[in-house]
Amino acid sequence: MPIDATQPYDDNNIFARILRGELPSKTVYDDDYALAFHDINPQAPLHLLVIPKGAYVSWDDFSARASDAEIAGFVRAVGQVARDTGLVVPGYRLLANIGPDSHQEVPHLHVHIFAGQKLGPMLAR
Ligand code: AMP
Repeated sequence: MPIDATQPYDDNNIFARILRGELPSKTVYDDDYALAFHDINPQAPLHLLVIPKGAYVSWDDFSARASDAEIAGFVRAVGQVARDTGLVVPGYRLLANIGPDSHQEVPHLHVHIFAGQKLGPMLAR
């Protein structure tokens, strides 16, 4: 079910539990500010998720409350993951779902990285 991104942060969401080590993840990148791992239900040959380590529901929440260091760290991590996984030349798609209209399911900010094939039009038609 899509979530209401205006609700307070839920400490028991799936990505909070991954960050606490309570649930496993196939991690590809980990630093002070961000964690990147394979999506459990990939929608492309390569489908990664990058999440900030702090407790933020959405992009607007993150951009309003996170420190400059957290924001820089997260944005740099997304680019680092793209470089580390060889995506700069073939290209890739970044996507962040925020709130009910976008069908955000996990109420912890995450950026999807889709890659590994021609990804087609941006939105389903
Ligand atoms: P969204 O609809 O943007 O909130 O996307 C949530 C994503 O999290 C979906 O693509 C799910 O497949 C993915 N997901 C849910 N649980 C896990 C998990 N335990 N490990 C990795 N990815 C997950």
